[in-house]
Amino acid sequence: MLSRPDVAVVGAGPVGLAIAWRCAARGLRVAVHDPAPGSGASHVAAGMLAPVAEAYFGERELTGLLTGSAARWPAFAAELTEVSGVDVGYRTEGTLMVGLTADDLAEARRLWAYQQGLGLSVTPLRPSALRDREPALAPRVRGGALAATDHQVDPRRLVRALRTAAERAGATLVPAAVRALSELDAGVTVVAAGCGAAALTGLPVRPVKGQLLRLRAPGGAAPGFRHVIRGYADGEHVYLVPRPDGEVVVGATVEERGDTDVTAGAVLRLLRAGVGLLPELAEYDLVETLAGLRPGTPDNAPILGPLPGRPGVLAATGHHRHGIVLTPVTADLIADLVETGTADPLLAPFSPARFASPAAGGPGPFVSEEEYPWN
Ligand SMILES: Cc1cc2nc3c(=O)[nH]c(=O)nc-3n(C[C@H](O)[C@H](O)[C@H](O)COP(=O)(O)OP(=O)(O)OC[C@H]3O[C@@H](n4cnc5c(N)ncnc54)[C@H](O)[C@@H]3O)c2cc1C
Repeated sequence: MLSRPDVAVVGAGPVGLAIAWRCAARGLRVAVHDPAPGSGASHVAAGMLAPVAEAYFGERELTGLLTGSAARWPAFAAELTEVSGVDVGYRTEGTLMVGLTADDLAEARRLWAYQQGLGLSVTPLRPSALRDREPALAPRVRGGALAATDHQVDPRRLVRALRTAAERAGATLVPAAVRALSELDAGVTVVAAGCGAAALTGLPVRPVKGQLLRLRAPGGAAPGFRHVIRGYADGEHVYLVPRPDGEVVVGATVEERGDTDVTAGAVLRLLRAGVGLLPELAEYDLVETLAGLRPGTPDNAPILGPLPGRPGVLAATGHHRHGIVLTPVTADLIADLVETGTADPLLAPFSPARFASPAAGGPGPFVSEEEYPWN
């Protein structure tokens, strides 16, 4: 074990491990604390790198961070694969966004128009062009659009690769939970504990439940489609993420609750929507049903930077639906901040300080146990 590390990272999910890797690669002595690395939201996550499809109304600054991080992904994936020897499953076939019924298409088209207005790459496709790209789509699918720059990675492989890369760069893993930041003695402490950050810091990070299924194509075959497919199907939102080994991820619910129970109703809705878009899925094996907790924040954006009133403590949490796509930019900017003590201007909109004072629109000195009982 290290004597006194330069950096203590709390949490060995993708965010904490990537920060640890980047810091250790700069010659800093790093300890990463986690009783169960990779067991948080990333164990459940689909791995879509979808800054375009997930550019929603009212989230312009977040969309900027997402597109900036997605642009770092090709080099990040290549470097990580080389350093770790682990193939992270980075795939660049792009994403098809589709609407099953006329109503579904109307809803989707409004969002596509917004995304195009931001200058993002969204190309509308007629049903015939959709089926040229993915013949397995249901004949009922009314229309769609291509987000050619939205890609995917396998989050479980990503965590494995990051852990190997961090350890090879010299980071030490401490297999224990941190109950209070005062337990740690390090030059800088980075809280990258996902939903666990709330209890350690009082930051308004809340669990947002997502249920998700994993299917497998029969007979060890690859899935019968190549793009990530995100659809509106009879009013349900669903995504289908194909992996070369035959796995298809079908996700996900978005529920304001903090348990990880899997419910029959959610499985039914996800399967009905998924099979509605891609009928052959009914023939696939259902191999896993699970639920994870996204680290949500009041404005859906991550919390990145120095914690007010806590010298030497940085937050890197609250990545909500986007922790996988945001891993490269978070790691680079937090490692810069650790090394130089100066925050990149890109971090400004995501500072923890935005929740620190009522004047700044925040709820006060972060939040109380009563307001956020999951703390
Ligand atoms: C259903 C679902 C689908 C998703 N799909 C996508 C997607 O397609 N694309 C995308 O970009 N994102 C997706 N996400 C979101 C993504 O998984 C998260 O944003 C991401 O995992 C956050 O990474 P993290 O490292 O901050 O937290 P986590 O992955 O939650 O990891 C946190 C780690 O901290 C540890 N920890 C917690 N408390 C403590 C403590 N006190 N001491 C020590 N260690 C502690 C935990 O054990 C865990 O290992 C999805 C999430 C869910 C639930």
